[in-house]
Amino acid sequence: MTIEESAVATGATAMLYHRIGADLLGDPAAERTNPARPRQVVAVTPEGDSSTVDDAVMAARAAQPGWAGLGAPARGAILLRAGAILAGRQQAVAADLVREEGKTLAEATGEVGRAIEILQYYGGEGRRGRGEVVPSGTPHTLAYTRREPLGVIGIITPWNFPIAIPTWKTAPALIAGNAVVLKPASMTPLSVWHVAQALADAGLPPGVLNIVYGPGGVIGTAIAAHPQIAAVSFTGSNAVGREIEAIVTARHARIQLEMGGKNPLIVLDDADPVFAARLAAESGFGLTGQACTATSRVICTPGSHDALVDALVREAARYRPGDGLDPGTVMGPVVSAGQLRTDLEWIETGRAQGATLVTPPVEHDRQFLTPAVFTGVLPAHRIAQEEVFGPVLAVMRADDVDDAIAIANDIPYGLSAGVVTDDMRMARRFIDSIRAGIVKVNRPTSGVDPNVPFGGVKESSTNTYREQGSAASDFFTWTKSVYLGMDR
Ligand code: NDP
Repeated sequence: MTIEESAVATGATAMLYHRIGADLLGDPAAERTNPARPRQVVAVTPEGDSSTVDDAVMAARAAQPGWAGLGAPARGAILLRAGAILAGRQQAVAADLVREEGKTLAEATGEVGRAIEILQYYGGEGRRGRGEVVPSGTPHTLAYTRREPLGVIGIITPWNFPIAIPTWKTAPALIAGNAVVLKPASMTPLSVWHVAQALADAGLPPGVLNIVYGPGGVIGTAIAAHPQIAAVSFTGSNAVGREIEAIVTARHARIQLEMGGKNPLIVLDDADPVFAARLAAESGFGLTGQACTATSRVICTPGSHDALVDALVREAARYRPGDGLDPGTVMGPVVSAGQLRTDLEWIETGRAQGATLVTPPVEHDRQFLTPAVFTGVLPAHRIAQEEVFGPVLAVMRADDVDDAIAIANDIPYGLSAGVVTDDMRMARRFIDSIRAGIVKVNRPTSGVDPNVPFGGVKESSTNTYREQGSAASDFFTWTKSVYLGMDR
């Protein structure tokens, strides 16, 4: 089968293939079922091996010079067209995203909207230059820099934002003139297919974006190790990220990792407790708590604690889990039975270490899990230190704003952090002292703009290259310095 025949009907079981060059390859091997309806098969994919990655890299290498040679405005036009095509399919693609990942239709529609914005943003980048003219010490010499594509980029993505993350890595890679070999998470093979399809329908030449399906330990490792992949961009867990980093850096290729978070929301004495609780719940229970930027610690100064806890418990009661496709659902199911087990273990760990569950006893019906709020959580508790990735909030007490900031910083991660206060002096103190890549005042810790640099510090990130915005181009290009002599 070829890419011209590759459109999948939304809503039905999708038969997916490796997209390599102009071909769709592989035999059905793995099924993804709907986390809300475990008997419903959403997609069937092949499972490749290292030779599939070799084939994809070969296709990418063949296509890349022609793609780069098109020029950035022409590349941008294709991305812009793909954005418009995806916009025309937004509702159907969002429904498929719900069926494979579980989030609510409103969340999924927003995420597809984000992919559209990203394609539009980087499409526009095709008309903006990134080099600079620099004065040369040699007379009659024009010195300037150009950003050159790296060649073939390997992209490895997680399941929790199955359309936004692959798009926010792929679009800047493509606009810079690179070709891509992408491996999506096995649990979410379908959303990214729709992006690839929109790009193909917009005129992306075959081989510029290749998708390989299969287990992370096989496909991800083969991408990391491939000598002809110039750079690898990964988002996912710390354990896997560090494994990939070791492989990529051993062969002196470029690496970008975005990994876990343990994001604090500090609530100061002057904060409106209802507003603060709404922010904590939106970031802590929205997306079923399965976001790297999710709030997972709420750190209260003495005057805010009790009212915040009352408001938060009331807010948590609104997050009844349900099928994301039902219009009334505010929180979808946990993504998998394995993740549910992990969440329940974390809830047990919180209790065993002495924290108090102030929400009703946690219930779960299949993968539908009710949210949990713990109080009395101490900085040394495991639920204060380690990423949960589920609808679980740890409320902690601090003596004052400085103590709250110290507690917030006392973790291995540094992705996103927030404060709720109307006191701008306190807000500035927080902004100055917090160690996190993304800092929010009176806003949820989750949710970012596609044109603002994104990334963490400490164990959350390699903290070398930022994603999104014009900063993304740094990772996907290298700088060539040119001295152009104007006379002899
Ligand atoms: P994983 O690290 O398990 O998987 C991420 C990707 O890596 C998947 O495509 C996976 O494939 C692949 N993979 C798995 N094992 C290997 C391996 N040994 N070598 C190479 N690749 C491998 O993460 P999850 O998908 O479970 O995502 C959740 C994690 O992602 C959380 O820790 C979360 O914080 C983080 N995350 C970070 C974000 C950020 O921007 N900082 C944003 C979103 C999530 P397969 O699916 O086949 O196993």
